Amino acid sequence: VPFGFEDIAPHEKTERVGAVFRSVARRYDIMNDVMSFGQHRLWKDLFVGRVLPRAGESILDLAGGTGDIAFRMARSGAEVVVSDINPDMLAVGRERAARRGLDHLRWVEANAETLTPFADSAFDAVTIAFGIRNVTDIPAALRAIHRVLKFGGRFYCLEFSQISLPLVADIYRGYSRRVVPGAGALIARDRASYKYLVESIERFPDQDAFSAMIRDAGFGQVRAQPLLGGLVVIHSGWKS
Ligand code: SAM
Repeated sequence: VPFGFEDIAPHEKTERVGAVFRSVARRYDIMNDVMSFGQHRLWKDLFVGRVLPRAGESILDLAGGTGDIAFRMARSGAEVVVSDINPDMLAVGRERAARRGLDHLRWVEANAETLTPFADSAFDAVTIAFGIRNVTDIPAALRAIHRVLKFGGRFYCLEFSQISLPLVADIYRGYSRRVVPGAGALIARDRASYKYLVESIERFPDQDAFSAMIRDAGFGQVRAQPLLGGLVVIHSGWKS
């Protein structure tokens, strides 16, 4: 399957992203460890540290996949709902939760662009980690997130971004273009899906452009906190 995402219809991008995560679901967690050299665990810890979930809060983790963010947030005693468009990713997440004895999480299949299962002003916080770049209509997703947040509620997004130091950016680009699809072929037996993941990172808007999109959806106090020179960025905003 060619991954020329600029040239395809929106519903086709959604279908291809669905195929990618259906294909990699069972190997998703091990691939994250291999490709990030275990670093994704640290980024996720830092991210949840910023979200600062509290007991009694109601928090929605979007594109929650196999549950990494939700498991970390659930330790606080917050009520966490994990949502993802892909039932295969959710199925792996449910099995992992059962093994950890985390039986109080809710798992809901939903498209981040509409969030139809969720009422207006339902959540104290909404999180999305390494998910927003896979969404076809990002402005629609940001508006839906704004809708389901309570007034005063907060939005946090963890995503790959553009590295600010040119030399480091070149090294990273070389690594991701040459090594990641090969590792995907070896470990997940799926080169094309990992080629897509690399391309989707390269095409995602930079910090300023994405911050502007968050503001356009109605959020205030929009901030971007780069980690590792901008390889990964935590974006946040408040519904006021
Ligand atoms: N948040 C998890 C983590 O950090 O490990 C999973 C991230 S995984 C790279 C991206 C997830 O986004 C996949 O589980 C995929 O199914 C989900 N996804 C893609 N498009 C989506 C959409 N429109 N609505 C909700 N989830 C979506």
